[in-house]
Amino acid sequence: MLILNGKEVAKEVRSSLAPRVVSFVKEIGRSPHLSVIIVGDDGASHIYVKNKKIACESVGMSSTIHSLPSNTTQQELNDKIIALNQDDKVDGILVQFPLPKHLNSEEVLNLVSSEKDADGLTYVSLGYFFAGKPVVQPCTPAGVMTILKHYDISVEGLRAVVVGRSNIVGKPMAQLLTEANATVTVCHSKTKNLSAVTREADLVVVAAGKARMLGKEDFKKDAIVVDVGMHHGGPAGKLCGDVRFEELDGWVKAATPVPGGVGPMTIATLLQNTCLLAEKRAGLR
Ligand code: NDP
Repeated sequence: MLILNGKEVAKEVRSSLAPRVVSFVKEIGRSPHLSVIIVGDDGASHIYVKNKKIACESVGMSSTIHSLPSNTTQQELNDKIIALNQDDKVDGILVQFPLPKHLNSEEVLNLVSSEKDADGLTYVSLGYFFAGKPVVQPCTPAGVMTILKHYDISVEGLRAVVVGRSNIVGKPMAQLLTEANATVTVCHSKTKNLSAVTREADLVVVAAGKARMLGKEDFKKDAIVVDVGMHHGGPAGKLCGDVRFEELDGWVKAATPVPGGVGPMTIATLLQNTCLLAEKRAGLR
């Protein structure tokens, strides 16, 4: 089984970004900048945000974490986003979800200007994306496509199944696979006999958010399996995915591990998106 090593591919993506950042600095006199907003004190979210900052700095980009207290009001958060939209030195804005329950995530997300939407997830960004004219692509599905391309896996003509239909992963994933000429089926929690559907697929992208839900018996021989799932507290307290990866060797053709598969690609794509947004706003693209 070929292990689709997202960590390695992400490294390559970062290397390819570094010279673009150097050119940007030369032309514009500052580095592309990502502002990340986090509200509250969720430990895992703070780790994700810190990793994003470290990743930015690894390619010469700059990043600011705006850490707001858990009792931040909707108006205060909205005002923060509006100020970042207006700040010419900010190229990308990302709001770390989940937000505390008293805040309206949809309202917050859609305040981010599509010119600075590094995640590519506002309704305006998604509209352009689904119309085939993306400003930037949603990070996780775009990262999956980058891994497949890196390993010379063409999806053209393949029967692909995407498990999950969220706006963040499932729906845009199905869109990118369709654009790349796969024949795509989208499954969800109401799909009957999921295993019978996934077993027909040449490529399965699993984004159900259910730890270790699918295993060898759910895939056909020589399938390609991409596991988007991310769960803390798998076997031995480790991070695990939606797929029982250890069952796949000797059965499927290729698969992404967790950790080290899709996760690093999501961050690498976030950097790509931020750089692209910076270049576009500066008129360099
Ligand atoms: P959501 O909870 O928003 O969506 C999950 C989707 O899976 C829904 O469409 C749901 O169906 C479907 N689903 C749930 N249970 C089943 C089931 N038993 N059978 C079939 N379909 C099912 O999750 P996200 O899309 O945001 O994330 C999915 C996973 O990916 C999570 O584990 C998340 O942590 C991870 N993730 C990882 C990232 C990374 O960088 N690696 C980035 C983003 C997410 P329905 O619509 O009917 O409810």
